[in-house]
Amino acid sequence: MEQKRLVILGAGESGVGAAMLAKKQGFEVFVSDFGTIAGRYKTKLAEMGVEFEEKQHSSDQILNATEVIKSPGIQSTAPIVKEISKKGIPVISEIEFAKRYTKAKTICITGSNGKSTTTMLTYHILKNAGMRVGLGGNIGQSFAAQVATAEFDWYVLEISSFMLDDMFEFKADIAVLLNITPDHLDRYEYKIEKYAASKMRIIQNQTADDVFVYCADDEETQRCLKEITLIPKQYPFSIHTSLPQGAYLEDQTIHINTNPKEPLTMSISELALQGKHNIYNSMASGIVAKVLELRNETIRESMGDFKNIEHRLEFVAKISDVTYINDSKATNVNSTWYALESVGSEVVLILGGVDKGNDYGMLKDLVRSKVKAIVCLGKDNKRIHEAFEDDVDIIVNTFSAHEAVQVAYHLAKKGSTVLLSPACASFDLFKNYEDRGNQFKAAVKEL
Ligand code: ADP
Repeated sequence: MEQKRLVILGAGESGVGAAMLAKKQGFEVFVSDFGTIAGRYKTKLAEMGVEFEEKQHSSDQILNATEVIKSPGIQSTAPIVKEISKKGIPVISEIEFAKRYTKAKTICITGSNGKSTTTMLTYHILKNAGMRVGLGGNIGQSFAAQVATAEFDWYVLEISSFMLDDMFEFKADIAVLLNITPDHLDRYEYKIEKYAASKMRIIQNQTADDVFVYCADDEETQRCLKEITLIPKQYPFSIHTSLPQGAYLEDQTIHINTNPKEPLTMSISELALQGKHNIYNSMASGIVAKVLELRNETIRESMGDFKNIEHRLEFVAKISDVTYINDSKATNVNSTWYALESVGSEVVLILGGVDKGNDYGMLKDLVRSKVKAIVCLGKDNKRIHEAFEDDVDIIVNTFSAHEAVQVAYHLAKKGSTVLLSPACASFDLFKNYEDRGNQFKAAVKEL
């Protein structure tokens, strides 16, 4: 039989992991990246004997593929992807590819916000319970690389909408949808329906034996659910309404009912993750753990001792009675809303960066009641000025994390909070959100 030629577009963590698995499965593999490939990945590809190219996509090497694995960062409108599609060559994601070669079950977590936190928390609970579990998707080591090298019974996968767009036969054993709020609309023709449809693919192919965990308080999710007949077992969660099955909040206590005989209750003060948004995240993880029939004690302990990942409402320092918080991962308006909601009332807010078509309207009430000054951190801050000029007296432009922290330091009064929660992507001034958060923290430490 003729050897299948697999072409991988994008040589990042997911692409190189896919190359590793493809090689192991006996495919002829070619990796192509339009940018520069990081040194460690080049070494890995060379060690595996995988042919690759960088700074270009050579049609003659790519258009003879039997199948193409595309990095989630590459848009379907990119010229090379259009050419591939025109030739009728299937384009899939690394997740779709890797799932073909493992019997392990998957817990797939998506949503506009809270994916990483909930994925990490779920992984933490399962691992503490002694399960053989891997962590992958949009976080940590590539899923495909783990399928090639490790033996797990379960994987907890953080799944983005861009990944879902290239997943067709994949089925999640447990699907978690945290929320659907505007994000990345630039890749969905600025239509929330298109973006929501992509998120709803998390339940594609599920059968009655599978599980779907979702937020009953999320309007867009509810709108989407009205349009379909839901097949998997459902476990909704809510902080407003008590639910017979799933999870809800009552008297500052979360109740998780997947098995009526043994519900789990936990006071929110016991949760390691604080803030309203994290009640949702904790309920979602707790439901997954209960569905897997883990002991209440194990779940309670793990939800109590979890250490959140960097750059998410991360406490940095208290200096002269001013608290500095790094929420650099807040790259859309909704996550900034939750950050503002969870902090005190004298806030100097550091906002801005690359605006992805933001509607700042939903922040206005909170900004009016809590924010004393806005420090813009971005190359173009026009839209922020326009959005808040009637709500906040002081709006200042800055162009580096150092400058933003210095300005915030002078504006903050005793008892204030300086909150970096930008609602925007970071690429105008920083490498990525981690770089932005790290520069912010370094600048705070210099004070
Ligand atoms: P994601 O991986 O989906 O980007 P993260 O867990 O990294 O999500 O959190 C991203 C940002 O969103 C952080 O600023 C965090 O404070 C905020 N956030 C976390 N969970 C939620 C939620 N359930 N709803 C809204 N905002 C959230």
